[in-house]
Amino acid sequence: MVRAIVGANWGDEGKGKITDMLAKESDVVIRYQGGSNAGHTIINHYGKFALHLLPSGVFYGHTTNIIGNGVALNIPYLAEEIDSLEKRGVPKPKVYVSDRAQVMMPYHMLMDAYEEERLGGKSFGSTKSGIAPFYSDKYAKTGFQVSELFYPDPLWEKVKATCEYKNVLLEHLYHKPLLVAEELYATLLSYRDMVAPYVQDVSAFLHGAIKEGKEILLEGQLGALKDPDHGIYPMVTSSSTLAAFGAIGAGLPPYEIKSITAVVKAYSSAVGAGAFVTEIFGEEAAELRNRGGDGGEYGATTGRPRRMGWFDAVASRYGCRIQGATEAALTVLDVLGYLDELPVCVGYEVDGEVTGEFPTTGKLMLAKPVYAMLPGWKCEIRGIREYGKLPENCRRYIEFIERELEVPIRLVSNGPGRDEIIVR
Ligand code: GDP
Repeated sequence: MVRAIVGANWGDEGKGKITDMLAKESDVVIRYQGGSNAGHTIINHYGKFALHLLPSGVFYGHTTNIIGNGVALNIPYLAEEIDSLEKRGVPKPKVYVSDRAQVMMPYHMLMDAYEEERLGGKSFGSTKSGIAPFYSDKYAKTGFQVSELFYPDPLWEKVKATCEYKNVLLEHLYHKPLLVAEELYATLLSYRDMVAPYVQDVSAFLHGAIKEGKEILLEGQLGALKDPDHGIYPMVTSSSTLAAFGAIGAGLPPYEIKSITAVVKAYSSAVGAGAFVTEIFGEEAAELRNRGGDGGEYGATTGRPRRMGWFDAVASRYGCRIQGATEAALTVLDVLGYLDELPVCVGYEVDGEVTGEFPTTGKLMLAKPVYAMLPGWKCEIRGIREYGKLPENCRRYIEFIERELEVPIRLVSNGPGRDEIIVR
């Protein structure tokens, strides 16, 4: 069976932990979009890990971990990530890289940084991992597939043509050092040697795995609201964050995805710019940020403080819907035990009208939150393993959110550890 774990919000919902839990029962774990621009935090008996590119199954000897064709593949980063696991005592994982994945080029990362610099205060708050330039090239048909690394002559011709084109931008738009074709070519040959042991026809492998009835997990990165089509465009990421894209980014039939777990955070956090209706500021935000996640809400890749807000039922219901969630996992609930009252945004007021539908960006920028106030439970809920043992007000919060989401909350996460979970 194929299942997907995806974010219903802006990312950082705690997908890493839920994926890690489910990865244990999976034969195959697949990354199908994004690149090394976001991080999953996983805590297990080897220690605490922030994985950026590798699928979460790498800690289990029995899983095959796949970097699908939809991923922005930073090859030296991948090699380093595999290395760093081994250095920390994790047995060498089984990793397959799709021969159709495209290669993150050194100039993608440079141009990402140059573009942010050029935009100055109007920047997108990119992680400068090269993601936007990478996907621009992919869809402009000027990217490099992994498979192309293995054909030296056409590769050299393409490198020359690419340098010619990129150098116009580097010289005239960014006023930065130019690319040297010979150097880029040598770099790509070194990438080829690094990635060679992992390259596979992933789609064919998955075809076989599905036939054999294997458990396959699609691991999403970021969240629904960062999707380039259905998110808060243009403050989105450059590849689809939706479960549906799992079929494309891995190369499997869409109808095989039977179960979609949307990870929903018990409060809101976001990185980067963009409309964020329930955002809070000052002391109130600092307190939630410092209590949040595991040791505070700071970016796993950049260390930047995350923007904080109250639970947004309008955005989360939309996020679940657009993901096609068959169930939800509510995470980091334990963090909220300090509050007397919990605001939950149940509507957006735009020009005097209240709506429960998540709008397009222009309208979203004008939206003011309409809150329902729920009573707090004022105690520590970590360590509780049965739903019925949660304080009554805590259950009221969960059940209120469940009604708002219109999706059953099957998992409740009440701590960062992998066993800190309540299954309903
Ligand atoms: P992801 O990108 O969606 O995987 O999210 P992150 O890796 O950024 O996860 C957010 C942080 O929350 C990480 O530091 C996790 O260890 C932590 N975390 C996940 N679930 C819980 C939870 O239920 N409670 C607490 N306190 N922290 C959690």
